[in-house]
Amino acid sequence: AVTDSDALCDVPLPVLGRDVTVPLADGGEITYAALDYAASAPALQRVWDDVAAYAPYYGSVHRGAGYLSQLSTDLFENSRAEIARFLDCRPADQVVFTRSTTDSLNLLAHVLPAGCEVFVFETEHHAALLPWSDARVTVLDAPRDPAQAVATLERALADREPYGPALVCVTGASNVTGELWPVRDLAAAAHAHGARIVLDAAQLAPHHPVSVRDLGVDWVAFSGHKLYAPFGSGVLAGRADWLQDAEPYLAGGGASRTVARRADGGVDVEWHTTVARHEAGSPNVIGAYAIASACKALTEAGFDRLVARERQLIATLRAGLAEVPAVRVLTLFGDDHPRVGVLSFVVEGWNSSRFAAALSAEYGIGVRDGLFCAHPLVRALLGGDPAAPGECGAPASSLAAIRVSFGAGTPDEHVERFIGAVRELVRRGPDRG
Ligand code: PMP
Repeated sequence: AVTDSDALCDVPLPVLGRDVTVPLADGGEITYAALDYAASAPALQRVWDDVAAYAPYYGSVHRGAGYLSQLSTDLFENSRAEIARFLDCRPADQVVFTRSTTDSLNLLAHVLPAGCEVFVFETEHHAALLPWSDARVTVLDAPRDPAQAVATLERALADREPYGPALVCVTGASNVTGELWPVRDLAAAAHAHGARIVLDAAQLAPHHPVSVRDLGVDWVAFSGHKLYAPFGSGVLAGRADWLQDAEPYLAGGGASRTVARRADGGVDVEWHTTVARHEAGSPNVIGAYAIASACKALTEAGFDRLVARERQLIATLRAGLAEVPAVRVLTLFGDDHPRVGVLSFVVEGWNSSRFAAALSAEYGIGVRDGLFCAHPLVRALLGGDPAAPGECGAPASSLAAIRVSFGAGTPDEHVERFIGAVRELVRRGPDRG
């Protein structure tokens, strides 16, 4: 483990946007402190450079005999292989390119076998909570510690009747509290009861190595834009069987192996049984290449160093916030439970949205406020009614929290500025709006 803090600050992963100057309410300006990596992380300079170097040569994949088309096809397929290595997939696993985590989980929902039951905790992001509308869904209560999470799942799976196909969907790291979930134990529990499990790694993969093999999950989903690549590309990786047994997610060119007109006027189609089955249409080659480039950059920089650096920043953040009694940090598993570089809190007397707006206008700090597309979880943490409706985005209602998040490229100064700003606003508060 690396402990030297200078070495940690030197993790060689420059991100874009580090020098952007933004206006302040007092007429001055300041270098922007992006502390909203959990929403979208800034792209790595290396990813941008790789994409720019490829851009003059790109062509459509899987379609042409031309040199650039062949080159692009190689690049696209090598990107798949790079991502499989990054995720430590099993040899038979498939890597399907999608648009995002949301898209990946909707794809999996589309391929569920008939009669499949789905088990999901109420604490999940909506992308993991909502796609299963065609299945029988059991929503599990928010656990108060990791052991309770496993026990709750085991009980629910043991109770199910009849014993058909089942899927568990669980996050690796909460997008609200940043807390790590006991994925390996949940996977073991799922398998012991004949169920499969998909890991929502949208928040885990950018902060922590993910090994499909070691965690024992059947599928993993994540988004490029949270893993230091640009918007518009994501991944679903894992077992091939359910994917290959289902109708294509999108019907169209590329997914079909043969298409023939029938005498009765209809069309006969034979679908591919490879990843192409769910990748109809011209794929986002640049997006796929960008994800692979980010995966390679993270691996080469040394994920251990990134994890250690984030731990250091989280410790600084926790120590700084602990000195401000008006701040309440949101946690399900207790404050000592390990978390990635994501933390949410509320400030006594303050409306969270106004607090976040003040951080932006007066200190040039970008954080997220609201319910973080995880309404039941935030309500449970804030003591609100989990059944009441809410808005996605940043509602003006008082039922909202503030989320600060960071990762590769976050300098100490941003975290220190944030702590200083919280202290100052609290001293000046309460809410003036
Ligand atoms: N799961 C988690 C845990 C998330 O944090 C997010 C994004 N906030 C998603 C899923 C959805 O990701 P995307 O918006 O890229 O589809």
